Amino acid sequence: MLNIVLFGPPGSGKGTQAEKIIDKYKLVHLSTGDMLRAEIAAATTLGLEAKTLMDKGELVPDAVVIGMIENKLAGNKTAGGFVFDGFPRTVKQAEALDALLEKHKAPIKVVLSIKVGEEELTRRILARGATSGRADDQNETIVKNRVVEYRTKTEPLANYYTAQGKLKDITGEKPVDEVFASLCHEIDKVNSNKGLTPSVP
Ligand code: AMP
Repeated sequence: MLNIVLFGPPGSGKGTQAEKIIDKYKLVHLSTGDMLRAEIAAATTLGLEAKTLMDKGELVPDAVVIGMIENKLAGNKTAGGFVFDGFPRTVKQAEALDALLEKHKAPIKVVLSIKVGEEELTRRILARGATSGRADDQNETIVKNRVVEYRTKTEPLANYYTAQGKLKDITGEKPVDEVFASLCHEIDKVNSNKGLTPSVP
């Protein structure tokens, strides 16, 4: 099973790259941000509670996102692997993910950390806000708060995965296809089945 974590601040291109990776390697995309937005759109209690935090650029409680991931893993038993996008975001979430994957005997193979500078992140998110319709992409104060949440609660995870020897840094301030090529290069190192691209005889 090919389990990959895409790690990086908001606006680093995780969502865009996740789509390309699942397409190439035939994996299942698990984005907790997308799941939470679906809950909001369906006006569930969970969605309404999450919305107040998301609108401020704060993280939702660990138990909420861990529960959502647990359900998705249980509901996708035949998947060839997962791309985790926007999860885990705290050390507690990372420990919970390791425990869940341990049950499936399918540990994370690689954690791809996409690096983008702060100024570029803010520029990208506000530009995305013009078309995404996401309230948390449109207000500079909220955007800055999301980056602060990332630096204080999520970035410490880099040490957690470095200690496991799984963290790979990727430069994110390049054209999408160049970033994708760097990601694939790292994925191919840990993947015995090199995606569906046929090799030249
Ligand atoms: P994203 O689409 O990944 O940028 O997530 C949008 C918002 O959803 C974040 O700013 C958080 O409020 C919330 N969120 C998404 N994933 C998580 C997570 N793993 N842990 C806590 N909050 C999350």
